[in-house]
Amino acid sequence: MLPQVIIIGRPNVGKSTLFNRLVGKKLALVDDQPGVTRDRRFGDAELLGLKFQIVDTAGWEDDEAETLPGRMRQQTEASLETADVALFVVDARAGLTPLDEEIAQWLRASPVPVIVLANKAEGRAGEGGLLEAYSLGLGDPVAVSAEHGEGMGDLFEALLPHL
Ligand code: GDP
Ligand code: MG
Repeated sequence: MLPQVIIIGRPNVGKSTLFNRLVGKKLALVDDQPGVTRDRRFGDAELLGLKFQIVDTAGWEDDEAETLPGRMRQQTEASLETADVALFVVDARAGLTPLDEEIAQWLRASPVPVIVLANKAEGRAGEGGLLEAYSLGLGDPVAVSAEHGEGMGDLFEALLPHL
């Protein structure tokens, strides 16, 4: 069985873009698994020869869940149960939000190893957000651009010890 990597983060930070990049041309094999895991999407990913199952989460985008922090936390905790490592994606251009801080708090309490990804870091617009991401207390953030494919070597190096 492949090790499992789960992508977590508030809406619009680039989780699905990262998922699509890591799944690449195998995207057609993505299984939505309706009914079982409505809020999650699974794919077989490969990064520089490293193979793993990748899970995209969308529970944060559910309007009802947004108003029910308890349920959001429940969804996150449920999806973390089977994960070997979590990729916590933040938006380096937008900077941190209270929801990012809240998710970070939950992740710090979880036994699952976390890698913070400061996404949208292409160019210089992400430099401030990258520095901010250190304050999440989840280790050194990795600057990536899911859209442009930058930082994938650094992501590989961060993942390697956990898979
Ligand atoms: P999700 O809600 O976290 O799944 O985010 P999406 O993957 O749907 O992306 C949200 C928006 O951010 C889209 O408009 C993407 O094109 C954009 N986006 C994602 N990754 C990057 C990136 O690396 N750089 C920039 N500039 N935009 C990105
Ligand atoms: Mg998404």
